[in-house]
Amino acid sequence: MVRYLYFDNNATTRPLETVVEAMLPFLRDQYANPSSLHAFGQGVRHRIECAREQVAALIGSDAREIVLTSGGTEAIHLAVRGTLNATPDRPKLVISDVEHSAVRKLADRLKGEGRPVEAVPVDGSGRLDLDALASVLTPDTGLLSVMWANNETGVLFDIDRVAAIAHDHGVPLHVDAVQAAGKIPIDVTRVPVSLLSISGHKFHGPKGVGALYVRKRSRLEPLLTGGGQERSLRAGTENVPGIIGLGVAAEAAVREGPAEVDRIRGLRDALERGICEAVPSARVNGGQAPRIANTTNIGFAGLQAEGILLLLSERGVCASAGAACSSGSLEPSHVLQAMGVDVRYAHGSVRFSLSRFNTPDEVREVIGLMPEIVSRLTPVHSR
Ligand code: PLP
Repeated sequence: MVRYLYFDNNATTRPLETVVEAMLPFLRDQYANPSSLHAFGQGVRHRIECAREQVAALIGSDAREIVLTSGGTEAIHLAVRGTLNATPDRPKLVISDVEHSAVRKLADRLKGEGRPVEAVPVDGSGRLDLDALASVLTPDTGLLSVMWANNETGVLFDIDRVAAIAHDHGVPLHVDAVQAAGKIPIDVTRVPVSLLSISGHKFHGPKGVGALYVRKRSRLEPLLTGGGQERSLRAGTENVPGIIGLGVAAEAAVREGPAEVDRIRGLRDALERGICEAVPSARVNGGQAPRIANTTNIGFAGLQAEGILLLLSERGVCASAGAACSSGSLEPSHVLQAMGVDVRYAHGSVRFSLSRFNTPDEVREVIGLMPEIVSRLTPVHSR
């Protein structure tokens, strides 16, 4: 296999070897349906419940509050639509200006269906405007949905304060913690969130599996009905291998996460510093705000991110421009626009996102490549 320098871990992460090993028996021999009442099925059921416990431990919840889903996007849809459908007297949705497209596009659809939707702005470093938030949480608000960590910049919202404001206004809060889980400690016994979404493939688990935390007594309608799986909140035969892998990844994040996070932060800081020293026209987006440890978003003045990414890719380096799904379009990212980043930087902004598998040598290699890449793309007259 080609050797890649993989700096695109907010798009997806490499599954741990222990995750893959744990999944294999459930792709081969342990194929019974966990809803079957025979011993074979109940053996698989038991393993799913163990995985649920492992997922619950990652966020400090009770296992009975975990609904297993097909990933972050489904968890988000269940949280948002499920809550609004359950509370028809409170139709309004409030989100932030920098949400992932899983939330933004859903909000657009809900708007198209006639629901009131409002988006709260962020400041120049990507922090949520808490005064604006408080002013839009009107009595008809059925749900506030905001992210914990931004997928493009890594900027962390102050969820303690957001939750306190939502609580004061009597509005249920859903947190998209897809980029936060496994990277920062999460404890739902301490923060009064009603719902919280996570996704396995962002913390070294498999793709296509995730979970929604649903606090006891939350009002939620299922989107998928049929069999009574997941306490009738999410019908459909379980993705057993995926769920087993999700559990192992969650347990590894609890056990090894804190030590890994410190090491990753050191590498991220070295990469950021190194690039900014080697390329004087580079500037970090969101660098003034608290961020998750693995992400840096760097703007290169006057350049196009696509050109940088292409030259990086030719040298085996994987990085992204904003969200993976929006790269390829020349529109600057909605996140950088919401932060008011100067268009000269916004068009040339590249996200490097690290994981436990990155090494100091890889960081040095990427820093070493940047001056040549930037000088190849800089028009001669502006050098
Ligand atoms: N929310 C955020 C912040 C994300 O970064 C992503 C994935 O990039 C998602 C939601 C969607 O998660 P999934 O890929 O598991 O559907």
